[in-house]
Amino acid sequence: MLNYHIWTIGCQMNKAESERLGSLFEETGYHYVPNVTDADLIVINTCVVRQNAEDRAVHKLQNFKPLKKARPDIIIAVTGCWVESNNDQLKKTFPFVDYFFKAGECPPWVDRAKWLQALPKEPQPATYVPIIQGCNNFCAYCVVPYRRGREKSRPLSEIVCEVKELVSRGTREVTLLGQNVDSYGHDLPEKPALSDLLIELNDIEDLYRIRFLTNHPKDMSLRLIKTVAHLEKVCKNITLPAQAGSNEILKVMRRGYTIEEYRRLVNEIRSEIPDVGLVSDIIVGFPSETEIQFQQTVNLLTELRFDTVHLAAYSPRPGTIAAREMVDNVSAEDKKRRLITLENLQENIVTEINAKLKGKTIEILVEGKQKGKWCGRTSTDKLVFFSDNVNYLGKLVNLRIDITSPWSLQGTINY
Ligand code: SAM
Ligand code: SF4
Repeated sequence: MLNYHIWTIGCQMNKAESERLGSLFEETGYHYVPNVTDADLIVINTCVVRQNAEDRAVHKLQNFKPLKKARPDIIIAVTGCWVESNNDQLKKTFPFVDYFFKAGECPPWVDRAKWLQALPKEPQPATYVPIIQGCNNFCAYCVVPYRRGREKSRPLSEIVCEVKELVSRGTREVTLLGQNVDSYGHDLPEKPALSDLLIELNDIEDLYRIRFLTNHPKDMSLRLIKTVAHLEKVCKNITLPAQAGSNEILKVMRRGYTIEEYRRLVNEIRSEIPDVGLVSDIIVGFPSETEIQFQQTVNLLTELRFDTVHLAAYSPRPGTIAAREMVDNVSAEDKKRRLITLENLQENIVTEINAKLKGKTIEILVEGKQKGKWCGRTSTDKLVFFSDNVNYLGKLVNLRIDITSPWSLQGTINY
């Protein structure tokens, strides 16, 4: 029996691709091992969206060098956004790596037909399904379009077939993935929209829930908002990154909307989908961001009160417009201070939002166990834990919420 190990860092797309690779390796006779020293095949799935993710991948890879020396038969492969079309430099720096293959592509030593069909035999109750690869937007700070290429949608019928198959194998919730899911379908002959896909998926028997991310504020349509509001299986949860609260910064970021337009969109979403769970991303310390402009981001978070905010300090990425044309002139100390200010603010906001759920009965889909407790998510994407001896895996259960915190909730089964 041969063993494989996959190490993954980065976004949900990377996680989805690692899941697929795992299924593919299982199909071809490999068995997963958590310990890298037991593996015959090691894949590291990298992220280069920020410098520290790239550093962690480099560090991880360096650890494999002595392993390869001791056991030259081990296959070591690197995928994800670190890998470019021309990898001569990477090959020179890491000669002990056997293969480099681009994010979302077929591993070069595997039969492509097998890779195309790879689906997990026993998928998790909640499974990721990529629907559109790449991005056409070229936000000034972002390396994704350079590494994952231009937008390429998967045919609607292919996605529906795949979700039906996953459901027949045990999946109960799918999260449709794309860097900009609002662009889904524009490159296909029939030009289906994300709403069309949601309508088709909503009819699949035994599929309980559908999520999708990430939306782009410049592209999200009223039709999509109304579709989410009306389809009962579509979770009331929208990921809509603002990135900054200042119009000047949004302009240099090349985001394509103003704060006034963003605010209007959030209000529209909230009026169509009451109690929606809203997620945003913010970058602090973008080149030239002043204290006043940062304060506008503080004001935005204070006003719009998101359920989750992914916060990041600006990290120059080689090749991007910002790295080529702008000076990274906000000091590391200022970036850190701004990050901590927003972390504290957001923690207080979510503490208050979650406290209001205490005593309420909420439905969750049970996704698994962590530290002996069942856990799952609400439609609005809040993580909830509960204890019970019955096997609830993949079931929808109603919980009365007893304890709340900014990070998770705890409840009791409400019979
Ligand atoms: N497509 C999504 C969007 O338009 O917001 C997000 C995709 S991006 C890979 C994920 C997040 O990483 C972004 O929302 C942004 O906040 C963050 N990010 C991307 N590039 C960054 C950089 N150079 N420095 C810091 N954060 C960055
Ligand atoms: Fe990057 Fe902007 Fe595309 Fe998101 S929309 S992946 S931030 S270029």
